[in-house]
Amino acid sequence: MFEQVKLGFEMNGLEPTIDQLTMETHYGKHHAAYTKMFNELAEKAGVADKSAEEILGSLDSIADETLRKGLRNQGGGYYNHNLYFSTLAPDAAKAPTGKLLDKINETFGSVDEVVDKLSKAAVGQFGSGWSFLSVDKAGNLFVTASPNQDNPISEGTGRTPILALDVWEHAYYLKYKNLRADYVKAFWEVLDWKKVTELYDKAVG
Ligand code: MN
Repeated sequence: MFEQVKLGFEMNGLEPTIDQLTMETHYGKHHAAYTKMFNELAEKAGVADKSAEEILGSLDSIADETLRKGLRNQGGGYYNHNLYFSTLAPDAAKAPTGKLLDKINETFGSVDEVVDKLSKAAVGQFGSGWSFLSVDKAGNLFVTASPNQDNPISEGTGRTPILALDVWEHAYYLKYKNLRADYVKAFWEVLDWKKVTELYDKAVG
């Protein structure tokens, strides 16, 4: 049974960056719906005993096209939002530490630079989608954007996402209206680099 990540804060905990109504709708309705659908489809496809990462990383093994597409979209929606919500916090750490900080400096030059790249990828994503910071097995970092509920796992890159920036309109429209760039700029106020650092350390072992 796939479950939504538990929030470590109240629905108004990310105010004013992310307003309460957006949280209630985004987490309470959209993410809840992805989770429900993913459970149903995983059951139907006979893969409910696998992890979400395993399912998204082996979509080609699902012969039925409707099920495969459904798992890509609903499973991606489940997984991406679990990552997104688990890395947001009212008292967010404003910078990574340790190995992740070193790798960011080595790869991008500075934390500001990777934030800029992730922001540009998010703002430049046409239509609904995400930007991701992901890590390969050797610990290398990548900034990419994906449409819909795709991610580096379902795209078959073999990389693990450690930061997900949601730019579906449902993530920001109630407060920021058409101003996606304003939401993307504000997002960094609540992005908890401590959590992202933990995910990097876990991914590189
Ligand atoms: Mn979303």
